[in-house]
Amino acid sequence: MNAPGPDRTLSRDFADFVDEAAFLRLIGGDAPDSARVRDVLAKSLAKEPLEPAEAAVLLRAGAPELVEEIFDAARRLKREVYGRRIVLFAPLYIGNLCVNDCGYCAFRASNPDSVRRTLSPVEVEAQVAALERSGHKRLILVFGEHPRYTPEFIADTVRRVAAVGPATARSGA
Ligand code: SF4
Repeated sequence: MNAPGPDRTLSRDFADFVDEAAFLRLIGGDAPDSARVRDVLAKSLAKEPLEPAEAAVLLRAGAPELVEEIFDAARRLKREVYGRRIVLFAPLYIGNLCVNDCGYCAFRASNPDSVRRTLSPVEVEAQVAALERSGHKRLILVFGEHPRYTPEFIADTVRRVAAVGPATARSGA
């Protein structure tokens, strides 16, 4: 049997970053009962990814004792997964084209002051080498959300970074 595909509740056809109406429906429901909240927490503590509707259950929980249980579960999960350590990543900005408009972000499409730039492959390699020379061991590759930054483009960039040296690369927007 095939594994279920990704949940597209919030982004049909992955055309929109977030379907705002669907998002508001999810977080605007009634406060969940404690059994439902604990079911979701158990799934999270089992390290199973939550569906958007399940994450919304946690966001709608209002009773102080439930909120404390959510914080407690988050602390336990963090300790289990990461232990007592702090990991630093150096951001490497690959490109700042973006079709979205998050108000806090300088990459937002409506920002008239942003100079739009995407690193060439040679520039990516030069930046990785420079970061490694200054002692960085982990990089986070940053892209805006834009049709130019296809999964293939991102995968090629990650491969290019990995080929330069031993730094661990992750990607994100
Ligand atoms: S880069 Fe990310 S945070 Fe910034 S506007 Fe685009 S989607 Fe929003």
